[in-house]
Amino acid sequence: MTYLSNDKVENHFHDVVIIGSGGAGMQCALDLADAGHRVAIVTKVLPTRSHTVAAQGGINASLGNVDSDHWHWHMYDTVKGSDYLGDQDAIEYMCRAAPRIVRGLEHQGVAFSRLKNGTIYQRPFGGQSRGFGDGGQASRTCAAADRTGHAILQTLYQQNLRAGTHFYQEFFALDLITDDDGCHGVMAWDIANGTYHMFQAKAVILATGGAGRIFKITTNAHICTGDGGALTLGAGLPVEDMEFFQFHPTGIADVGPLITEAVRGEGGYLLNSEGERFMERYAPKDKDLACRDVVSRAIAVEVREGRGCGPNKDHALLKLDHLGEELILKRLPNIHELALRFAGVDCTKVPIPVQPTMHYTMGGIPTNRSAEVVYRQGDDPERVFPGLFAIGEGACVSVHGANRLGGNSLLEIVVFGHACGVRVQAYLQEQHYHPPLDPDCWKKGVDRVERWFKSTQHGDEKPKVAQVRARMQSIMQDHFSVYRTEDVMSEGVDAIEALVDELENARIEDAGRIFNTDLIEALELENMMALARVTAAGAHARTESRGAHARDDYPERDDQNWQKHTLATIKAGKVELDYKPVRTIPMTVESFPPKKRVY
Ligand SMILES: Cc1cc2nc3c(=O)[nH]c(=O)nc-3n(C[C@H](O)[C@H](O)[C@H](O)COP(=O)(O)OP(=O)(O)OC[C@H]3O[C@@H](n4cnc5c(N)ncnc54)[C@H](O)[C@@H]3O)c2cc1C
Repeated sequence: MTYLSNDKVENHFHDVVIIGSGGAGMQCALDLADAGHRVAIVTKVLPTRSHTVAAQGGINASLGNVDSDHWHWHMYDTVKGSDYLGDQDAIEYMCRAAPRIVRGLEHQGVAFSRLKNGTIYQRPFGGQSRGFGDGGQASRTCAAADRTGHAILQTLYQQNLRAGTHFYQEFFALDLITDDDGCHGVMAWDIANGTYHMFQAKAVILATGGAGRIFKITTNAHICTGDGGALTLGAGLPVEDMEFFQFHPTGIADVGPLITEAVRGEGGYLLNSEGERFMERYAPKDKDLACRDVVSRAIAVEVREGRGCGPNKDHALLKLDHLGEELILKRLPNIHELALRFAGVDCTKVPIPVQPTMHYTMGGIPTNRSAEVVYRQGDDPERVFPGLFAIGEGACVSVHGANRLGGNSLLEIVVFGHACGVRVQAYLQEQHYHPPLDPDCWKKGVDRVERWFKSTQHGDEKPKVAQVRARMQSIMQDHFSVYRTEDVMSEGVDAIEALVDELENARIEDAGRIFNTDLIEALELENMMALARVTAAGAHARTESRGAHARDDYPERDDQNWQKHTLATIKAGKVELDYKPVRTIPMTVESFPPKKRVY
């Protein structure tokens, strides 16, 4: 292949390159920059536009500011919420670290809301209990009104600017540079200038966020396309538990934007078309604050049994006007605005139409609790791949297992962002030089882009990228939704596999190199297709119901056969599945054995 003159590859050398400037990447960068390392963040958008900015409801920590609380209760809730698929060593680590981490954020400048006594405001969220489920609701979610992610991300960005982190913004990561010794860098495309860049680094950290956009209706930003998982698959490494996608019960009906669980935490509740508070039937104890998978399934059943609201009887109503205008505007200002804009309702007066909506990617790049990327090598299912680390929603450590608790993700990104920073500092002690690289190592990344420029010469009969994307999103939405069955999923697997060839033949229309969003969407679609394929295969294979993976034909959890993590790779163009045990032994406390999940 010959390259145009502006295709020269520019070289950069850093101790550490972090891909992603969400909360996970920023926290990790801050720790490393403060320790004096040469850290670069490569991010495809402006740093503060990362999806973390959209997080509303809050971050969990057992501070006990409202009522007594304990990290061990938080751990219990998280293990139970994960439907016993979460790794208990990582969960213990996260819940123990939470109070210190949240106070650390406060000291760095995060403007949390306050209780009257001046301590951090905390609200109840789904699946939170005291006394190992016996002591009533906990108020564990620390909030900055309903803009908590915004407050955290802005603060971490400012701290990184102070610490001297180098930002390469609007750069798209194309390919990991790996060999038998591990990962040594990443190839990237400068979106603004249309140029290639090779970043050599002693450690590469993937902090690329979730993959919600593989579904049609989602709360996720357009940039949540699972790029890190696809880069990992591209390097021949596995992704873990991708069949577990969380449907949030209260996305705005038909359009998707999120109405935070904080609405129910503050006292809002769901109604069906008969005006009934139906959650009382599904979760007699926790009602509207049961776990997200439980509430999403309840709405789906109400709709299926004809008690849905609206002309199409396809959604539920979220009532909060009884909370009063003053509380709504003080604690939930963003929700008030979103409901006005996207549903055309004033929620201080009437309820908001809501529907389960794709929200969170529980699976991702497998790591241990030090954020090192792991893969199977012979009998060892957790062999470390040197030089490669993963954190945040794109990683699977796994603290969320089959179902994430609200407020635990902002916590995860900061806790494991920090843990990764600590581990990488130790790793760098042993890495004195940038190793010599294969002289052709940049080519795969460059070819990935150049093939799309060639596609601009395809005729009109070839499908456009946007058409293939719409098909993929519809297949995922229709075949891998809140309830799943053998027939529907097996059709879905075939349909997704058939789309792989179509993507090979697809075309972009814009042949320009400067700010070519057509190209970026094509690259993102390649990434999403890889993840959609492993999601479909993993879901189809798992013959049980666990957390967010609910099958009509296998309604029970099957611990004997399925209390294990799925590992998926794409080898020679084919999806391959493997499994590894759940880490059920915590760090210091006793294990929580599986039991029936009731709320
Ligand atoms: C609407 C909404 C509300 C939420 N509310 C809450 C909440 O209240 N509490 C809670 O705990 N969790 C919440 N979550 C979940 C939580 O916000 C996310 O899981 C978390 O913020 C993810 O952070 P991250 O750092 O892993 O990734 P993100 O913040 O998604 O950042 C990903 C980064 O990766 C970069 N990137 C990706 N691909 C590439 C590439 N190819 N090249 C270069 N850069 C790339 C992007 O530019 C971006 O900077 C919410 C999520 C949503 C969608």
